[in-house]
Amino acid sequence: DKSPDDLRDSDRGSTRGVRKAAPKGGDPVITHPDRLVYPDDGIRKQDVVDYYRAVMPWLLPPIADRPTSIIRFPDGIAKHGFFQKHVMPGLERVGTAKLKEDSGAQAVYLYPRDADGLIELVQFGAVEFHPWGSHVATPDVADRVVFDLDPGDDVAWARVVAAARLVRDVLGRLGLQTFVRTTGGKGLHVVVPLTPGADWATVKRFARGVAESLAAMHPLEFVATATKRVRQGRIYIDYLRNGRGATAVASYSLRARPGAPVSVPLRWDELGRLASATAFDIRSVPRRLARQKRDPWEGIDAVRQDLDTVARRLAGDG
Ligand code: ATP
Ligand code: MN
Ligand code: MN
Repeated sequence: DKSPDDLRDSDRGSTRGVRKAAPKGGDPVITHPDRLVYPDDGIRKQDVVDYYRAVMPWLLPPIADRPTSIIRFPDGIAKHGFFQKHVMPGLERVGTAKLKEDSGAQAVYLYPRDADGLIELVQFGAVEFHPWGSHVATPDVADRVVFDLDPGDDVAWARVVAAARLVRDVLGRLGLQTFVRTTGGKGLHVVVPLTPGADWATVKRFARGVAESLAAMHPLEFVATATKRVRQGRIYIDYLRNGRGATAVASYSLRARPGAPVSVPLRWDELGRLASATAFDIRSVPRRLARQKRDPWEGIDAVRQDLDTVARRLAGDG
């Protein structure tokens, strides 16, 4: 018999959701496949596994080798859930990385490397995946900036869409290409790929600058301060998603909310047709992927843009 290690190695690099004919037994064993994860929707643990296997070719590449927090609901989303960023005993198929905490101490973070590792985390109750904006090998260097648009309770969806376009346009004038996704919650994320180079302090300063100028230009639409009270009727630009150790939900991650909504990358030109941030769910996303001819974020990995160029442009010689 092969050891689990042999099986893992033989499967390494596979990002396909399809089970391979051989070797057999490489997949993590799913216990309690009939346990209800979304009790109100009748969605079982096996359905969650099947979903993640179906979206694996799209989900995995952008989060592989990034420290990734998981939100675990061992007894379903109606019961206790918790955010977890460190490895725990029993995990055999995920990567581990010793990283410095804010406190200065070292801790062992987990990161997905391949499909089996991802599914192993689901076996351990993971429902949501939240990667860092940097890779394990270079945790101090940012390669993704996220502008997290958080609408106040009484903000209509059309305003959230318009706000995302304003963020896109402001960043576009700085020469930055942006990508948009639903969160599966209330808002949208505007994502900026960066050629690795800037440290997190620089990136956060940049994100804060953009958020504050948007709030100054459009004071009725945006706020850039976290205070709940001033968010009333407006959209909070949560730039704090951009820092060492901060996370944002992964594209194609399920959300632990009624209806099993999913965070979905969009083309900018389809945003206007969307009804809400929860427009896609565990059932519709695999259908959308089967239908779609091109990745809505096609080209994101080829984008070369950095904050030095932005700074030069702002200084007037870009
Ligand atoms: P929504 O559209 O409903 O705002 P969201 O995913 O953007 O959905 P936020 O509350 O705005 O939710 O949080 C943004 C991101 O910040 C999350 O995706 C998550 O990665 C991270 N985050 C939120 N809460 C926590 C927490 N308690 N601990 C660690 N990270 C968190
Ligand atoms: Mn948000
Ligand atoms: Mn937020």
